[in-house]
Amino acid sequence: MTAQLIDGVKLSQQLRADIAARTAALTAAGHQPGLAVIIVGDDPASHVYVRNKVKACGDVGFHSVLEKYEADFSEQALLDRIAALNADPAIHGILVQMPLPKHIDASKVIEAIATSKDVDGYSVLSAGELMAGLEGFRPCTPYGCMKLIETTGVNLRGKHAVVIGRSNTVGKPMALLLLQQNATVTICHSGTPDLGYHTRQADVVVAAVGRRNTLTGDMVKPGAIVIDVGINRNDEGKLCGDVDFDSVKEVAGHITPVPGGVGPMTITMLLMNTLESAERVAKRA
Ligand code: NAP
Repeated sequence: MTAQLIDGVKLSQQLRADIAARTAALTAAGHQPGLAVIIVGDDPASHVYVRNKVKACGDVGFHSVLEKYEADFSEQALLDRIAALNADPAIHGILVQMPLPKHIDASKVIEAIATSKDVDGYSVLSAGELMAGLEGFRPCTPYGCMKLIETTGVNLRGKHAVVIGRSNTVGKPMALLLLQQNATVTICHSGTPDLGYHTRQADVVVAAVGRRNTLTGDMVKPGAIVIDVGINRNDEGKLCGDVDFDSVKEVAGHITPVPGGVGPMTITMLLMNTLESAERVAKRA
């Protein structure tokens, strides 16, 4: 059996077209979505990420602000900038690029962002809203994974989902989103003995570990949906995920590739969260 590919690039393009259309309508009504991106320091990879995010904003018609600060920018000055953006009605989402320099307490910064503008969904309050099933922001990567699963047309009610990894930004919110869709959810982590025992029973496996070949074909139930969040390099230096694609695609029903699966969805869901934030403001106006 060869699994159907879940194409994250294509889905991303479709969703961005939808975001652009909704943005045009909001802008015409005087509520152009606005995203502020802050970067502190000179990490080259982080600068590429923020440039991509700001470009993506322009492509869908958002207003965007990019604030770049030197590595010695003080924590207080950063908190002051966040307070100003919290109060700015043209800004519906605030993103502070991680990692921050060591002298800045990242959790203090994340918690300083107004919950109504926390489009990364990383704050404790956003996590609480997700857990309680309240309206709020879903962290972008798991939100994107849910959209990818949706394309398979499989109803998750009564299905068994296994999430490998329990980070606050991917594994845990992923499990909650699957639970919201009435899947029966198992979370595995580095202390789980016999990972394959769990994954072989799963109708859906989401691998978010950061270790290649964590999931191999013999660990997958025939026909399962396999979502690969991992970003790793193989021996040739090529990008690969946590899933041994070649063996798993022979068993799974649907599978995301790396690259071209989860990766492209993350910025798209950041745009979606910012759009939803602006739509909420517009609804209240
Ligand atoms: P993380 O914070 O390092 O968490 C990794 C998780 O994997 C931990 O919960 C860890 O368990 C678990 N783990 C480690 N070894 C394991 C094993 N042998 N068996 C089962 N579980 C194991 O990483 P993360 O931030 O969640 O990211 C995970 C991966 O996704 C990384 O490769 C990251 O680069 C990638 N990622 C991709 C995107 C994207 O847009 N495509 C976005 C975010 C992250 P413990 O908790 O017990 O240590």
